[in-house]
Amino acid sequence: MWGAMPSAHSETRVVPLPERVSPLSGEFVDAALEQAFRESTLARVLSQQRTGLVLWAALMIVFVVPDYLALGAVPSFWVLAVYRGVFALLLLATVEAFRRKPALALHGHLLMGLALLGYPFFFLLYGLRPEIRSFNTGAIMVIQLMLFLFVPVRVTLAAPVALFGAVGATLGVWLTTTEVFVKVGTAFLVALPAVLGYAAALRQQKTERQEYLLRRQLQDANRELQDEVARRVALQDELERHASTDLLTGLPNRRALAERFATESARAQRRSEPLSLAMLDLDHFKRVNDTHGHAGGDAVLNAVGEMCLRSFRGVDMAARVGGEEFAVMLPDANVQQAGAVMQRFIDQLAATPTTVGNQAVRVTATAGVAQQQPGEDLNVLMARADAALYIGKQAGRNRVVLAPPAGSASASG
Ligand code: GH3
Ligand code: MG
Ligand code: MG
Repeated sequence: MWGAMPSAHSETRVVPLPERVSPLSGEFVDAALEQAFRESTLARVLSQQRTGLVLWAALMIVFVVPDYLALGAVPSFWVLAVYRGVFALLLLATVEAFRRKPALALHGHLLMGLALLGYPFFFLLYGLRPEIRSFNTGAIMVIQLMLFLFVPVRVTLAAPVALFGAVGATLGVWLTTTEVFVKVGTAFLVALPAVLGYAAALRQQKTERQEYLLRRQLQDANRELQDEVARRVALQDELERHASTDLLTGLPNRRALAERFATESARAQRRSEPLSLAMLDLDHFKRVNDTHGHAGGDAVLNAVGEMCLRSFRGVDMAARVGGEEFAVMLPDANVQQAGAVMQRFIDQLAATPTTVGNQAVRVTATAGVAQQQPGEDLNVLMARADAALYIGKQAGRNRVVLAPPAGSASASG
């Protein structure tokens, strides 16, 4: 039943891209989604815009030299030089603004605003330096392409700037030349990169957003998968806890005891330490049930379980292994030491009545204790302890009997 869930989820999530990205602007129709996408690109956008601005400023300054060589210190040179200087400062100020507030670079408005301010300089060049007209047209062509390609922009912003560039350049040429061929040719040359740039940038914008959506879907799926794994690990823990815990008393069950015994037994043999096991059975428990009902009996069992949890050392392990039978594993205790521990427990049990309803119920218990022989497994050890327990029942109950080492004849109480 779990298996089908994650795939069913991810299938409902896939939304076809055309419904989400506008075909003309190449942006997500959903404003929040578009914002999230742009934020995810901020680091890249920021570094590209900074590089572009610094380069642009450097070029503006460097070309003062050819201006001077061509024009000399005439007024038109100074007009150009001042424009260049002011504009370079503006570009560098923008770099600084981006450093302080990176979010300014997010939507591309500042950059496109600068492009708008920068373009008239080139229109002016047609009039002031007619001899480099073809260079100027080339520069405008490069800028037209860069508007769309070099810096990551949005076609919705770049398109009007590019239109401004194309119209301005065409006007600049039309006003400064009489050759029709040059006029038409220039208009064509400055419009062409804008059209190509628009088409290429639009495609790139769509692809980037498609990738962004896929990446998000992947992240979502990953997160779901991790959640699912965590849920299953928790479930597994829960199952394991249930499988190893007795529901009535909360004590470990026989399975849990067997697991711990394997570890403790190996450790004891490695260190040549003793390991003992006690079997404990409540005396005349049928009577408790008969007198106080099954629920009363359960309450007593519960109280015995709590006493087990309180009474033994942390290294010991008391488990409920049958209806009113308990086993206690005592590492690093020989049979005498374990016997003394069990005697204390039995004395305490006999002295501590359990309140059932408004009645005080007193129970006693009998225990048999055996020390593990080298190589002895849990079942054999339990059987020896059980045999000692049986002897204790025969002898009158409410006592502890120590099992003799395997192979010898009699038990001692
Ligand atoms: P003995 O001293 O010889 O052990 O006498 P006894 O009455 O305890 O005899 P025995 O061990 O044969 O009987 C155990 C009784 O414990 C039988 C059963 O009704 C009761 N019992 C076993 N499991 C539970 C349980 O989970 N809850 C309750 N209330 N009683 C249980
Ligand atoms: Mg009993
Ligand atoms: Mg019993």
